[in-house]
Amino acid sequence: MNRSDPSTQQPVIAPPSRRIRLRLPRLKTARGVFDARRVASTIAFFARDLHKHLGLLIPAGLAMLAATLLSLAAPWPVQVVLDHVILGRPARGVMSDVLARLGDPRNVLLAACAAVVLIAAARGLFEYASQILQADAAHRIGNKLRHRVFKHLQQLSLRFHERSRTGDLLLRLTGDITLVRDLLVASLFDLMAALLLLSGLLAMMFRLSPALAAVALATLPAVVAASWLTSVRLRAAVRKKREKEGDLISAAAEVLGAISHVQAFTREDAEKDRVSRLERSSLRAELKTVRLESKLARTVEIVTALGTCGILYLGVGDVLAGKLSPGTLIVFISYYTSLVKPIRQLAKTAGRMAKASSCADRVREVLDEVPEIQDAPDAVVAPPLAGHIRFERLRFDYEPGRPVLRDIHLDIPSGQRVALVGPTGAGKSTLMKLLLRFYDPTAGCVRVDGRDIREFTLESLRRQISVVQQHTVLFGTTLGDNIAMGRLGATRADVEAAARELGIEEWIASLPNGYDTIVGERGATLSGGQRQLVALARAILRGGRILIFDEPTTGLDGRTEQQIRRALQRAMRNRTTLIISHGLRPLADVDRVIVLTEGRIVQDGSHDDLRGEVGVYRELFEVPSEPDLVRGAPA
Ligand code: ATP
Repeated sequence: MNRSDPSTQQPVIAPPSRRIRLRLPRLKTARGVFDARRVASTIAFFARDLHKHLGLLIPAGLAMLAATLLSLAAPWPVQVVLDHVILGRPARGVMSDVLARLGDPRNVLLAACAAVVLIAAARGLFEYASQILQADAAHRIGNKLRHRVFKHLQQLSLRFHERSRTGDLLLRLTGDITLVRDLLVASLFDLMAALLLLSGLLAMMFRLSPALAAVALATLPAVVAASWLTSVRLRAAVRKKREKEGDLISAAAEVLGAISHVQAFTREDAEKDRVSRLERSSLRAELKTVRLESKLARTVEIVTALGTCGILYLGVGDVLAGKLSPGTLIVFISYYTSLVKPIRQLAKTAGRMAKASSCADRVREVLDEVPEIQDAPDAVVAPPLAGHIRFERLRFDYEPGRPVLRDIHLDIPSGQRVALVGPTGAGKSTLMKLLLRFYDPTAGCVRVDGRDIREFTLESLRRQISVVQQHTVLFGTTLGDNIAMGRLGATRADVEAAARELGIEEWIASLPNGYDTIVGERGATLSGGQRQLVALARAILRGGRILIFDEPTTGLDGRTEQQIRRALQRAMRNRTTLIISHGLRPLADVDRVIVLTEGRIVQDGSHDDLRGEVGVYRELFEVPSEPDLVRGAPA
């Protein structure tokens, strides 16, 4: 079949000439406050993934709250020691009762020391619990999301997959989803923890000294502005970086997938250079994001250092003036130093969220993509089909205005064996794809048993069509399993029956482990012809009265070709068969030959009729005059 069918895809060595990106809504890089909204809308979009895990997220949030409160309590034992144990200042309120009960300053010191340890231990415990619960929720959310995206990707039409790059889709499915997961859980929790601590610290600082707190507060807008501006630029940079990484993975996958071609054409160095070029451009994109991130961190650091200067200067003045106790100044400074942490955390989280929301956009793009080919709302399950196929006034354009098939009228009674021939690019594979409803016609329709195939559910239609594609796709499992893939739930007995029907059981028995022979990744341990036999067995097992066989173009040796031909003859019994033929031999076994040229049917008749006519058919195969060349081939 066509080179671009993913299930038959021939790996491409050179970079594809058409690098079509996903035809998806592209949102321009956001500016200003839109960025925050973007994150919020991303979270809202994935909210259903979050809300199913509230059982883990709520306890994680409560543990985080407890840890924050303990952080606020942490510096107070030092204040007690400094003001009441060292300086012997009297306490007020509850504290004076506590000190009175403890009596001896040594006891106060010991109690303060114990409090330091207990607060730290309890805070550690709560943080630990929160992180474990978050990680658990994040993994579950990530897995569910990946499952949802993967399922959706499988439902998307061939056109989508032909225009997408596999590496890029893989990146969306793996790396991007991991970042979305982080955005939904880790970043959101970090953000909430930072905001909670920040507001707690500021509230306490205002209580202790409004003037010093105002100085601390003055540093905030600069930090917020710097992180906000950087995060907008970071988001665009990360998106670019991900695209470059997608290119790199796609290129590496292409080379590895076509390694035999690469080696045969001695393209190793050329491919290495291509991958290196992509690596360099990926590195440049990566460096840009690192530069932006470190620029943000530096800005935050400088602003907070300036704030520390101001507080120290004014705070010491207040202590000397007797407005503030030394212990309280220590607590205040400790709070201010702690303030840096949530501020930096906020900046970091903003960066991470910017990064993740770019990746989330990429995941959303896939989820938003509507499958082009879907069941009609009133589609019915196809009844067992007899296999009468009719293409009616059919026209098809891959790209609007450029018809690949035009005015196709073709009626194939059930049970007829038809060969489709024609020069390369004539539209043979496309016609098959329309029968399988990989695409819908631009005009006209395809009927089976008199009904437009769009009236049937996709699944029930495809279940009744057996396809053997030109480039058979085998999986790296056993031969038996590969045949069994033809039908869900097929047993070993079904597999053996299919092999018998095709007459290939002897060949399978001659293999070292029979049906249990491992065929290697993509069937690498089998020859092209043997792969076709497995594919034919798979098609037979599928059942159904319509068989599509796309003959391999690669030359097979005479013996294998005969083996396939015999198997095909058996497979064609009682089935409407459409063979895309590139050679002469199968043409002797069919009832009718259709010649396609530039998307039109130009000849239609039996092999014998057509070989007598002057026309494309004769030119195509240069049919020799000796009739035996075809018929005389050993059966
Ligand atoms: P071959 O014998 O080489 O397999 P074919 O007769 O099967 O050729 P098709 O694969 O049906 O030809 O292709 C018909 C035309 O449609 C060609 O010009 C091809 O370039 C074009 N074509 C095929 N697939 C696509 C696609 N996914 N997008 C755009 N054009 C396509």
